[in-house]
Amino acid sequence: MPFRFLIVGSGFSGAVLANQLVKNLDCRIDIFEERDHIAGNCHTSRDEETGIMVHRYGPHIFNTDKKEIWDFVNSFTEFRPYVHRVKAMYNGNVYSLPVNLLTLNQLFKQTFTPQSAREFLNTLADKTIIEPKNFEEQALRFIGKELYQAFFYGYTKKQWGCEPAELPASILKRIPVRFNYDDNYHNNSYTGIPVEGYTYLIQKLLDHPSVSIHLNKKFSSSGEVSSYDHIFYTGPIDAWFNYEYGRLGYRTVTFESSIHDGDYQGVTQMNYCDENIPYTRIAEHKHFTPWEHHEKTIVFKEFSKETTKDDVPYYPKRLNQDKKLLDQYRQKATMLSNVSFLGRLATYRYMDMHHVIGEALQFSKSFTAALLSGTNPPVFPNSEN
Ligand code: UDP
Repeated sequence: MPFRFLIVGSGFSGAVLANQLVKNLDCRIDIFEERDHIAGNCHTSRDEETGIMVHRYGPHIFNTDKKEIWDFVNSFTEFRPYVHRVKAMYNGNVYSLPVNLLTLNQLFKQTFTPQSAREFLNTLADKTIIEPKNFEEQALRFIGKELYQAFFYGYTKKQWGCEPAELPASILKRIPVRFNYDDNYHNNSYTGIPVEGYTYLIQKLLDHPSVSIHLNKKFSSSGEVSSYDHIFYTGPIDAWFNYEYGRLGYRTVTFESSIHDGDYQGVTQMNYCDENIPYTRIAEHKHFTPWEHHEKTIVFKEFSKETTKDDVPYYPKRLNQDKKLLDQYRQKATMLSNVSFLGRLATYRYMDMHHVIGEALQFSKSFTAALLSGTNPPVFPNSEN
C-alpha cells in the first residue's frame, strides 16, 4: 500500500517536498491549495495587456550561494543571468543602492576612494554600541546616523509599521555595504530569473502522476485529516490552531499597478525612502527579463500594512510578543502526531526562496529516513531560540 500524504500549500516548500517524496517513497500525495493558482507568493503570470511576466506578489529574484540548490532549480527549467539593481529616492534625489562608494559620494558630496570611504564610515559608526540588539542599533553601529536616516529609517518604518528599534537586527544584515562601485543588490554566487516564470518551475516540480493538486481547497485542521499517513502543513502556524492564543504579526503588501509606454523608471526597482511617501517601492517588471522586448511597461507601487484577517501574510514581524506566541504554538504542535510544519508561514521566519528550498530538501531526507526506520518524523525543520 502506498503512503497517503497531504501537503497543505503549493509554494516552494510544498512543491519541493512533494517532488522529493514521490521520488523516494511509494506514495500518493494530495495538495490542498486555497488560492486559484499554485506557487504561493512566487506566483508569476503574463500581464494580458503588455505580455510582461509579472511577479504577482512582488519581486522575486533567485539568488543563492549553494551550487546544489542552483543546480536543483536549473534541472527543472531554464534560468537566465539577472543582476538586480535598485535605486533609492530620498529627499528629491536618486541614489545608488545597496550603499556603495557612489552612494557615499552622492550623499556626502565627496569623491571618496575605497580607503577614504572606509575611514569616513568609521567616523560615522557609533562605536559605543558593542552588541547591536535591534535594527536601529545595528544600523547606527555600522553605518551611522546620516545613512541610517536617509535610506533605512523611513523605509523600514513604512515597511514594518513600527520603530526600527523594535525590530531584530537580522533584518538589516540582509543588506551589504560596499566600498566599491558594485551596485549588484545581491552578494550571492548564483543569481537568475526563470525564463518561463516561477509558476512554471513549481508546475514542473509537481508534475507527477502520484501528485494531485486541488486548487481553491481550503484546509481545516478540524476537517478530514485522518485518512492521511502524514500531513505537511505550510500555512500559517497560528491558523492551524485557529488562532487560539492570538495572531502572529505579519506585514502584508498591497499593489497599485499602472501601464505606460516604453520605460517608466529605467530600473527594476526604485525604493522610496522618505517617510512621508506612502509607498515603499515601485517595481517595473519588464526589467526582470531583459532578453524580452515589450513596447509597453507595467509598474507596481507597493504599500505595506498590518495583516488583518483576510489579507495575505507576507513578512513575519517576529517582535517579542510574536516570539512568545510562536513558542506556545510550537509547543502545541509537538503534541500532534503525523503532522509536520514547514516553510516561511509554518515556521514564521523571513526566508528567501533558496532557504525554503534548501530546508525542504533537507527535511524530506530526514522525514524519509525516520519513516523507513520507524522512528518519529520531525515536526519542524528548525529549532527556535
Ligand atoms: N531596507 C531599507 N531601505 C531600503 C531597502 C531595505 O530600510 O531601501 C530595509 C527594510 O527594513 C527592509 C529590509 O531592509 O525590510 C530588507 O530589505 P530587502 O530589500 O531585502 O527586502 P525584501 O525585498 O525582502 O522586501
